[in-house]
Amino acid sequence: MNPLEQQLQYPLGETQPAAGQVLDVAPDLRWVRMPLPFALDHVNIWLMRDRVDGRDGWTVVDCGVSREDTKAHWEKIFAEGLDGLPIVRVLVTHMHPDHVGLAYWLCERFEAPLAMTLTDYTTARLFSEGGAQGGATGGERAAAFFRRHGVVDGPSLEQLRERKSYYASLVPAVPPAFDRIADGDKVRIGGREWQVVIGEGHAPEHASLYCDALGVFIAGDMVLPRISTNVSVQDYEPNGDPLRLYLQSLDKYGFMPADTLVLPSHGRPFHGLHTRIAQQRAHHAERLAEVKEACAQSPCSAADIVPIMFKRKLDLHQLTFALGEALAHLHTLYFRGELTRHTDADGVIRFSPA
Ligand SMILES: [Zn+2]
Repeated sequence: MNPLEQQLQYPLGETQPAAGQVLDVAPDLRWVRMPLPFALDHVNIWLMRDRVDGRDGWTVVDCGVSREDTKAHWEKIFAEGLDGLPIVRVLVTHMHPDHVGLAYWLCERFEAPLAMTLTDYTTARLFSEGGAQGGATGGERAAAFFRRHGVVDGPSLEQLRERKSYYASLVPAVPPAFDRIADGDKVRIGGREWQVVIGEGHAPEHASLYCDALGVFIAGDMVLPRISTNVSVQDYEPNGDPLRLYLQSLDKYGFMPADTLVLPSHGRPFHGLHTRIAQQRAHHAERLAEVKEACAQSPCSAADIVPIMFKRKLDLHQLTFALGEALAHLHTLYFRGELTRHTDADGVIRFSPA
């Protein structure tokens, strides 16, 4: 555990569900820990006892990526973890593959409706159906974007070019219809009211869910206990300022009581929401100061910033996140007027003090 993590409390200690199993974490609420084929090796899924249109069963929050092993874990849960009841609603926090990947499969199998925000639903469908053109993190356009931001090594660019349908490989389909959830909505799940709280900066319109009666906050990826939430500029919105949006969004969780149980998409359930939010603010303030300092030494591309912000060795998947994250910090400083940017003769965009 790192020192920051020690400031949080984990009520379940080291106890966590094995793959294909469920663990009760609150009344009528179960935790599933689904393996992922990335360095980030799992995503948390939540099951809530519910009744939808007269049908008793479970509302599931998030799904896992579309892979055969994920489906096999789900099969075990259907057989042993749902008290013989079906899934009656699929609620997805946001459009990233580890969350929406198997929504089409779950919805079809159980004839269950999908609940999602409009922006993330449409983005997921575009990326899933758009193939090479629609993919956000692969293909020629992504390679050009990374090149422009200073990634010059051939193998990385080549791998990016080849990774054309990356999103669609993990999200081969998205249900053809959905029920919209929006900021401030009250969704009734199992007779309890859950408030939808929208956050930005990580995904276009990320939905978190807060239940006052249970004192539980399903945070999705917006507040994580150990790692910081990825906040990246991506090729389809090259002039985005997602870090500003993310920092603004953190304000929206301030109304929740200090003893709220936070259920994050990655890591363990914890107490200490306000502590964690303060840590995130401090983390980004420090990174912004580092980035500004580096640009004051000499003009920096996003690729120049990556080794300053990330000291460890990164695989390609991690590099795509890291470069986007470096650029997010550069953009926040740029849009605040603290940096200027210029495209140099080598075609690389670099940032200097304003
Ligand atoms: Zn995410």
